Amino acid sequence: MANRLDSLEKILLMGPGPSMVHSSVYAALAKDTIGHMDSSFIALMDDIKAQLRVLCQTKNSVTMPMSGTGSAGMETCFVNLVEPGDAVLVLQNGVFGVRMADVAGRLGADVDVLEFEWGTPVIPDDVVKALGKKKYALVAVVHAETSTGVCNPVEAIGKLVKEHGALYLVDCVTSLGGMEVALDHWGADAFYSGTQKCLSCPPGLAPISFSEAAIAKLKSRKKKVPNWYLDLTLIINYWEGNSRAYHHTAPINMNYALYQALHCIFEEGADRVFKRHQAVHDQLVSGLDALGFKMYVKEGFRLPMLNAVVPPPGVDEAHLRKQLRQEYMIELGSGLGPLAGKIIRIGLMGETARKENVNRLLAALRACL
Ligand code: PLP
Repeated sequence: MANRLDSLEKILLMGPGPSMVHSSVYAALAKDTIGHMDSSFIALMDDIKAQLRVLCQTKNSVTMPMSGTGSAGMETCFVNLVEPGDAVLVLQNGVFGVRMADVAGRLGADVDVLEFEWGTPVIPDDVVKALGKKKYALVAVVHAETSTGVCNPVEAIGKLVKEHGALYLVDCVTSLGGMEVALDHWGADAFYSGTQKCLSCPPGLAPISFSEAAIAKLKSRKKKVPNWYLDLTLIINYWEGNSRAYHHTAPINMNYALYQALHCIFEEGADRVFKRHQAVHDQLVSGLDALGFKMYVKEGFRLPMLNAVVPPPGVDEAHLRKQLRQEYMIELGSGLGPLAGKIIRIGLMGETARKENVNRLLAALRACL
């Protein structure tokens, strides 16, 4: 019987994730699986936690990868920190802010949404006004809104949230590994990310980090965390301490891959990696401008790793993406929600963020147009 895997094509992944994966990360995935309680694996877990703390610029002891994709990271933060009736403010300017409000609402939180126009950033002055009207237990925002390509001012928002006395939750799924993430400096109490964007690892793990204030909230809950699989009060006993207790079987090889992906970032130097993302973004923007594409987000608020672009008049974005995929083996992303059919999303994440990839895409676009 033919094996379908034999016919998979090699695609240049330039969409909103997953991104290209370094060969050393694939090699890590293929290493022999060992037991999840094996002392060598526990040592690897400790190294991953240490690497994540450096990349996230945090001293938080509870910093580790959850089993699951970025959405599992999102659920972990909300399910552990929110109790029914808690007032939660979600700062929303894209799909992932909408999802946050949905997740918090399902937990019985009293959710308020402060909406900003998609394609524009959260405005701190508006946040000040909202915080003046009601006492919130938690305020949540997406750092890098993958659906629009906007970078939100998480540092400025963090200051306001701290003055207010709420817990501060930041989604860094798309930013981690491609630009600076400084959790302690921002005053972030809870953070989550995903492996398949700028960490350049296949999808499957969700790094998270909880501050001491977040852990205090977790410990003072009136009721158990309403989700067993994501309950940090249990998972901490597997990821922390001198003797470890089984919770669920860790995805061993995915953790090898994350370890290697983080290793690659530190080998190149995190600052150099961030500069590389910015340089290829600048290269892409000027190349697209020459071809008649317009950036959807104003300069100054753009993410380097996620470029939302409006095609030249008369160009059908779905047709263009299809042609790029079929004839040039390049994957780009479509717009989501209200932006479907209006924008194309071009990812320059991790291993994808290379000059030669941008050159290849620009040449293909030129040929298609
Ligand atoms: N948050 C943001 C900002 C994202 O971009 C994504 C995925 O694209 C998610 C959350 C959800 O992550 P996943 O699709 O890995 O579950």
